[in-house]
This record gives sequence, structure tokens and C-alpha cells, in this order.
Amino acid sequence: MHRGVYFDAWFPRQHCYHPSLPPRRLRMVDDLVDYRATVLVWASMGGGSLALPYLEQEAFGPVDARSRFYGFVNDSEFIAACHERGIKVLGIVFEAQGWEFPVELSEDEDEVLALNELRGAGKRDWMGLREFSSNRYPKLWRPVEHYFPDGLVNSDGEPVTDLIEECVVRDIDQQPCHAHWVECPDREHQCFYMDRNNPVWREYLKAVIRIQIDAGVDGIQLDEAELPMGAFQYGACFCKDCMKGFRAYLQGLKPSQVDIALDGVDLATFHYGEWLLERGYDFRSGRETTPLFGDYYAFQCRAIKTYFAELAGYAREYARSAGREIVVSGNFFNLEPMYLALADDVDLIITEMRNTTYRQPEWYRYVAAFAGDKDVVVVENPYGGVVPELIGLLAEGKGHDLFRLSLFEAAALGANMSVPYGSWMGSVIEDSFYAPHGLASEIQAFLADHEHLFARRTVNEVAVVFSVAATRELIGRADASDNTTNRRDESVVVPYRAVTSALAGAAVPFDVVIWADGVTAPDRATAGELERYSTVVLPDVHLLTEAQAAAVEGYLAGGGTVVTTDRVAGGLPRHERLRSAGRTSVDDLLPHGRQVETPVPVAANLQRLADGSVALHLVNYDYDAAADAVRTLTDVPLRVRLPEARRHATVVSSDGKRTALEVTREDGAHLVVLDRLGVYSIVVFHDGEL
Ligand SMILES: [Zn+2]
Repeated sequence: MHRGVYFDAWFPRQHCYHPSLPPRRLRMVDDLVDYRATVLVWASMGGGSLALPYLEQEAFGPVDARSRFYGFVNDSEFIAACHERGIKVLGIVFEAQGWEFPVELSEDEDEVLALNELRGAGKRDWMGLREFSSNRYPKLWRPVEHYFPDGLVNSDGEPVTDLIEECVVRDIDQQPCHAHWVECPDREHQCFYMDRNNPVWREYLKAVIRIQIDAGVDGIQLDEAELPMGAFQYGACFCKDCMKGFRAYLQGLKPSQVDIALDGVDLATFHYGEWLLERGYDFRSGRETTPLFGDYYAFQCRAIKTYFAELAGYAREYARSAGREIVVSGNFFNLEPMYLALADDVDLIITEMRNTTYRQPEWYRYVAAFAGDKDVVVVENPYGGVVPELIGLLAEGKGHDLFRLSLFEAAALGANMSVPYGSWMGSVIEDSFYAPHGLASEIQAFLADHEHLFARRTVNEVAVVFSVAATRELIGRADASDNTTNRRDESVVVPYRAVTSALAGAAVPFDVVIWADGVTAPDRATAGELERYSTVVLPDVHLLTEAQAAAVEGYLAGGGTVVTTDRVAGGLPRHERLRSAGRTSVDDLLPHGRQVETPVPVAANLQRLADGSVALHLVNYDYDAAADAVRTLTDVPLRVRLPEARRHATVVSSDGKRTALEVTREDGAHLVVLDRLGVYSIVVFHDGEL
């Protein structure tokens, strides 16, 4: 499993400015070695969103003697230094960002005197994608033709001289949209929200990828992978290429699939934006109930899959042409279902959480399901969660157990939570997130030294189905706020969330099975993926595809037990092992009883290790704010049902201590008592040596 570092390395007590990351120093590599880092995410060369010559400067630019004195290096040199220590570096492609910065220049425009942070020197102007694409600064930057010898031509066959005007996302009134979440409100800089559906922008992003690969990256991370769907929050996108694409999508539908609202409409000239405006819709309010929204959503899902795959394929192919294999990843924000179809195109799953809290075991089980057999690296989010508060505590020398919990929780539940290294604090807070060095080193050393006690495969008896179709509307309502607040409307009950939270809160180890709807992503439901579970819970799964209904039937026929909550899909067979339960009635959700029984407030996960042993991961959330520590629980009884009997049990606690436990067996269950349970322990049930 990867141990990721969220390596923006932004400065303390200063804005986290996109798209450019601060110069790297050799000393940072030593820190990363202490963190036992295997991969750096959001790590290198973001400057392509400003201009390609600027990106080249990040990658290969000269470093003066004074900077060398403190070990400053350019990014290609930094990557080489990481390679010497076995650390992989991903180049970050900010796909949705198109930047314009205030700049101060010498009289001859042959020197940048200030950029972004001005100081009242020289001539004031602008510097960014517009100036790059119009060859505005010939003494500073190579011409655009150097990078695109055939020039840039748009889908109307016109030459492009202003990348922003050409590629920006537009709302229904054709106004350009901004990527507000990265613009610092007290700065003049502007970040436009760009659109990958525009072929010109894809050509530009490919040039960014080429430069990053030339600089030696181990992989390409495509951030904001859902563009332009992230601009729905701004009432977009109605740019010419989205309108062309949607028109083609509608024309490709079978007549029976075309919405009745389009009766008598000439699809050859159809313009969705104009059509909506004529009917009084603005795509800002009540978007989900706007006419043709379902079709438009399906079109955009197909578009993001197509164009993400195009860039992923291009990156691999370009690297191969240079004799190298790279990994491709993205940012699948909160692992929302729209990214499911994109997961096939990546080697490593990376996700930014929507709401970082002190306790989210059920979310991590979803993450593990989404990732399947791929590694997954999670990063925290400064908005709508506990991160600013946690940073405040850490700055006062407090909150160490809370930080430990955040990393151990992920590991226990099948994911990797990255270590922050100057990571993002949003565009308002003037600070970046560094963990106390000793604390981060201690946690990471435990995880690295006990790698053999972690596995993706589980022996959990219960699976909970996450149905994309059945949850979409409720989750859409609960999580409707924009991405600078990430507020969650707790008054909207999402039964899937209620069930998984109840189970996780009762120390029930479970897996999640994600069922896509065939539109957002391919529907791959089979009875085979369910058969190893004794119980499958269907929370509010009121819609089933044919394949999903067949999976339920096949699973029941094979002897499985199905528990439904809330709404039930029509067409399910009557069956003695198909029953219903209240969404938070844990015992009713578990007709076969609890696999793990313990009276303490822990989350549990049963991982099947490579040698056949089983590791019970226990996360203790009993944080006492007054003492600023997780209470150490004593004499903790555990009763654990395993697929097969194991002779020995050994507990490994997160301080590195290991203790053999006495095991008694009773009705197929293993009974042990832990003398002490701190923040995190792993109880291994094994036959041979551990
Ligand atoms: Zn568009």
C-alpha cells in the first residue's frame, strides 16, 4: 500500500496560491524519508495553468547561487532527488484552472519585477494564459508556436489567440465562470474555470503533460477530473463545445429515448441554453428539475469519461515514446459516483474528502469499495470540516491523538490518509497545513513497519450496497452547497448513510458494494460479488437494474440473506431470507448476529492477510477533550467470528508493542481480552509465527 504525502509545500502563514507551488529544497526530501513516503500527491509543476514557459521554468529553470546555498532545486532536480530515496512524484495538472496574474515588469518588458504579490515596482500589466496565447511578452516567453507548431485551432476551424476566451466555461448567459475556490479574495488575480470538452484545452493540457513527463515525473495527476461538471454550481456549462456535444448526444439517442419535451424540436439546430431561457429556466435554481437535466447529466458523464481517458491514454503513450512507464491518477473528489467510470483509466485512486471530520469509518469503507484492487490515497479538505480547528490545536501542542486517529482510521479501514506537508488550507486562510514532524514520523513508522498487517481483502460477513441511482437525489440534496463551504444539510436523511453509520458505530465490520446505474458508469453487478457475504443490506435501494435484480435473486438462491430498509425495489422475489429492518436497528440489520462483539466505542475491520491470518483493526474514538487524549480502555473483551479457527492471537498496538493473547473458542467464535486499548490496535488471529 502507498503512503502518500500531500506535498504542496506551501508556506506557513501565507496564502496557498494556485497554480504554482513554492520552490523545492533538498531538505524536504529528508522529511519525506522520515515520513516513509512512497508517493507525493499534488506535488510538482502546477504552473501550466499560468503558461507553458512558466511551467518550463518550474521544471528546468536556473537556480541562482544564493538559492543553492539552502538547497533550492528546480522541480526536475527535486524529482531526481526523490528517486534516489525511492519516492515517487506525481505532476499535478490543474485541469479546470486558467490563470491571469497581476505583474510588474521592467520598462523593456524583459524582466518580471513582481508577480501575484505586487510591490509597486516597474510597469503594471497582466500575465497568464491570455498573454501566452497572444505572444504578448516576446522577451520573456517563447512563442506559442514553439509548443504548437501547427497553431491552435478550435472546433469551428478558427485560429485561437486567447486561450481563456476560447476555453472558459460559460453560464447560460454566456458569461465566463471563475474557479472561485482557488481565488484569494484579497488578491487581484483571476482564475477562470476551463473546459476540457473544448478540444483546444485538451491540446493545451497535453502540452502540460509532455513537459511534466520530460521533467521526470513518475505519474500524472489530473486534478478537477470532472470538469466541466464542477461548474454546475455556477450554473454552467453552455459553452459552444458543450452545446455541440449535447446536440450530438441527443441526436444519437433512439427515438424512444428522446424526452417528450423535445417533440417538434429540430435537433440539428438545438441549443440547450437558448431553449431553456425561452422556457424561463436559468440552470442556477432548481437545476435537478430543469427540463432535460437527466440527459444533460448523462451527456456530461460520458464526456468526462471520454476526455479523461483521452488524456490518461495520451500521458501513457507519450511516456512510452520516451521509453518510460508512468502511473496516471486524478482527483476523484469525495469519490462521487460520477468518477466511477474514470476509475478504469487510473493506476492509483486519489481523492480529496468533501468533509473531513474526526470520525468517518463508514466513509472509508466506501472508499475501499470504490478503489477495489487499486491503492487509494486520501487528502483532507480545509472546507466544511475540522481541519482548521485541528491545525489550531496542533499549533498549541495539542490534538496529537486526533491527528493519530485521522491517519490510523484510514489505514484500519482500507485506505491511506496522506501526511500533510504544507497542504491546502483554502483560498482565504493564510496558512498551510504541516503536521508536527515527530508525530507524523512516529505514525508513519508504525504503518511502514507493519505493512504486512494490512490487506485490501477482508473477511467481513456483511456487505452494504451503495446504489448510485437510489442515493443520487437524496445525497444531491444533502450535499447541495458549493465547494467553498461543503455544508451538509443534516435534515436530509440518506438511508445508506444512516445504515453504514449505525453499523460502523457498533463495531460491525462491513464491506460496501457499489452498484452503478449503467449511465454514470457501467453496471457490473453480479451474484458472484455478493456470495462471500452472509448478509447483504440494501438501504433504500428502490431502483434496480436488471443485472442488479438478477444479482439479488442469484445471491438469495445461493443461500444468502438480504435485508432491506426504507423503500424497496419492485420486482424483488418473495423469499424467506429477504427481510426488512429499520435503518439504525443494528440487530435487525444483522439476522446472523454480530461478527465482532465488544462493549467499547471502536470501529472494526477484518482484513485477510497474505499468509491467511486475519487482522482485526480496532480504532478507538474515545477522545476526552478535557484531557486532550483518547482514553486508554482496559480489559476490553472481544468476541470475533472468523471463517476458520485460528490457534493464536497477538495484539500489536500503535506504540509498536506486541502481546500474545489467550484465545478461547466458543461456538466458532474467538474470545480474547485486551489489557489495554489505546488509539489503535491490530489483533492478529494466526496459526504460525506472526
Ligand atoms: Zn462547456
